[in-house]
Amino acid sequence: MSNLSDLTISQAKELLLNRSISSVELTKFFFDKISNFKNLNCFITETFDQALKMSKISDEKYKLKKDIGLMEGIPIGMKDLFCTNQIKTTAGSKILKNFIPFYESTVSKNLWEEGAVLLGKTNLDEFAMGSANTTSFFGNVVNPWKSKNDIDKKLVPGGSSGGSASAVAADLCLAATGSDTGGSIRQPASFCGLVGMKPTYGRCSRFGMIAFASSLDQAGPITKDVLDSSIMLKSMCSYDKKDSTSSKMEIPDFPKIVKLGVKGIRVGIPDEYIVDGLNSNVNDNWQKGIEWLKSEGAEIIEINLPHTQSALPTYYILAPAEASANLARYDGIRFGLREIGKDLDEVYKNTRASGFGNEVKRRIMIGTYVLSAGYYDAYYLKALKVRKLISDDFSKAFEKCDCILTPTTPGVAFGIGEKQDDPLEMYLNDVLTVPASLAGLPAISVPSGLNDEGLPIGLQIVARPFDEETCFKAAFVIEQLSNFNKLKN
Ligand code: GLN
Repeated sequence: MSNLSDLTISQAKELLLNRSISSVELTKFFFDKISNFKNLNCFITETFDQALKMSKISDEKYKLKKDIGLMEGIPIGMKDLFCTNQIKTTAGSKILKNFIPFYESTVSKNLWEEGAVLLGKTNLDEFAMGSANTTSFFGNVVNPWKSKNDIDKKLVPGGSSGGSASAVAADLCLAATGSDTGGSIRQPASFCGLVGMKPTYGRCSRFGMIAFASSLDQAGPITKDVLDSSIMLKSMCSYDKKDSTSSKMEIPDFPKIVKLGVKGIRVGIPDEYIVDGLNSNVNDNWQKGIEWLKSEGAEIIEINLPHTQSALPTYYILAPAEASANLARYDGIRFGLREIGKDLDEVYKNTRASGFGNEVKRRIMIGTYVLSAGYYDAYYLKALKVRKLISDDFSKAFEKCDCILTPTTPGVAFGIGEKQDDPLEMYLNDVLTVPASLAGLPAISVPSGLNDEGLPIGLQIVARPFDEETCFKAAFVIEQLSNFNKLKN
């Protein structure tokens, strides 16, 4: 078994089924790799003992050919935003650096029930706030990709699910979970040459997922290919009475439909996504994506999403507003860190001052400002109204088309430390991903080529609510025709 590194979930599953490999062997293989690539800083917590136990159980199931789950024996990384029972869960923050939950998030529970094996908890931007994985209390994550013009330069993996993306790209695990509030699955997937799927809001339960902005947060998979994405999403989602926004819609058999093609599917191309700063390599790749889909029988239609340019400012009002409310619970009394003070007020102040990093503090200040009396109508309420307009734009567009093709990000992975001094420039990374988040729509990023420096580019496909299937079908065609998996070697 020379190249376990290149395995996808579906290939590993074959090997496990015909017993040419065991889950314990796979698990040990990835643990060795994790130890050899500590420099990437992908994991906050490694769970070797847990993984061995889980993989032994899977091997027993394969042996008995009984109760084999969709992810049986597959070693994965879990973004450290999902609470795992009795396993430290930090959200990338000092304030939770010793937090050990006594319950399991529904998404992780679903994955364990399908047989997945937990290798460890992956690094992330603090409370999932960021686009470069540079805001984590546990240090920044490094992208395994290198620019061929400067092979010494360390690049960001994107964020906030940067640890997950970098770990999958460096073959330290077969797949990993992410969470996406405004792009945190799609953008790092795009920067690391991977498939990142943010399903429809409500597809995955948010129970046990540490909250950032509750009306936007969604869990989803980061994988090496589209088929794996469909397998893992199917394993993650479920209706859950513990999350009142979780959906009762039937969950399709995603892996079955992935390869059905795009014949007759109408693909919308929005002019408004030709944003300032859109890199020319990325734009060229977008045009290629259009041609690939056309050549497979899709119909290309020009559409308009007129409020696109308001999406970013709207997001950066609503997300901090919700975050400021969600983060009020970290008061030094009930969770994690507590700093002492002479009275209760001082305990709060000292704890939050020392426990939160700068980006989180910035968001809390913006959030409390836009929610405060006198500014609420001007900012928060206005942003809610604009959110509705953005959502209406999509509904109108979907009268004419079945999905929308755009780039995932305006540029490719950049150097660690770049854009760090200017939060606004950092926020511009999300300009193409936040609209689908505000409208709660399913959106996938699929690797579609390399730029002049040899760095991955991703294309995004957005579809109607609960139509992840169309995202998968179109993404599969792009994956095949771009030949990305050959390009990367
Ligand atoms: N980069 C965006 C932000 O910083 C999105 C983060 C996310 O999706 N969690 O808010």
